Amino acid sequence: MNVIFFGPPAAGKGTQAKIIQDKYGLQQLSTGDMLRAEIEAGTDLGKKAKKIMDSGALVSDEIVIDMIAARIDSPECAGGVIFDGFPRTVAQAEALDKMLAARGKKIDIVMELDVDQGKIIERVEKRAAEEGRSDDNIGALKTRLQQYNDYSAKVLPYYEAQGAVPKIDGNQSIEAVTSQIEAILTGKDSAPSAVSGGA
Ligand code: ADP
Repeated sequence: MNVIFFGPPAAGKGTQAKIIQDKYGLQQLSTGDMLRAEIEAGTDLGKKAKKIMDSGALVSDEIVIDMIAARIDSPECAGGVIFDGFPRTVAQAEALDKMLAARGKKIDIVMELDVDQGKIIERVEKRAAEEGRSDDNIGALKTRLQQYNDYSAKVLPYYEAQGAVPKIDGNQSIEAVTSQIEAILTGKDSAPSAVSGGA
């Protein structure tokens, strides 16, 4: 089963993806985490990406699409993937569809984590204090929310045209959000081979 967690910055996509991947044998692919790993490793790509990320802008479609392409055939992805923070533009969504189709696969479910703007600001401030991420400041967050509205929000209609996109109330506690996600996944899981059949 291939799942997309979709939603604004600090919606809790990464938190939920980490919980769900262990329970369902899926692999989280987070382009944000991959980019931060490149920065950490001091690669040329990381150096280029850091400036863009710190400003809150999106890195190029080509970079993130290539990063996903480099991981999609790895053994840990064989049981299915949770895409987190990708696709963020329609061009990325189209590239992902093509990539999966070429492998006889598809996106099985897209979920939207919906969070109030006030909550987003609260969470980013908390994460800034705890993790010190350099894009967790009010200036960059404004740009990230703007990018979300300008580009990422257009990804939703792209998937809605392919089928229902259930909305999760992401304002609730971590556990309550996980329950909502699991209700959708198990409802979808009438063909269990994808998750429990050890594909
Ligand atoms: P958040 O979930 O808080 O938005 P992420 O870790 O997903 O944070 O992303 C942090 C930054 O990494 C983004 O602001 C952007 O610069 C870059 N980034 C991550 N994923 C993508 C993507 N799919 N396309 C373009 N840029 C991306």
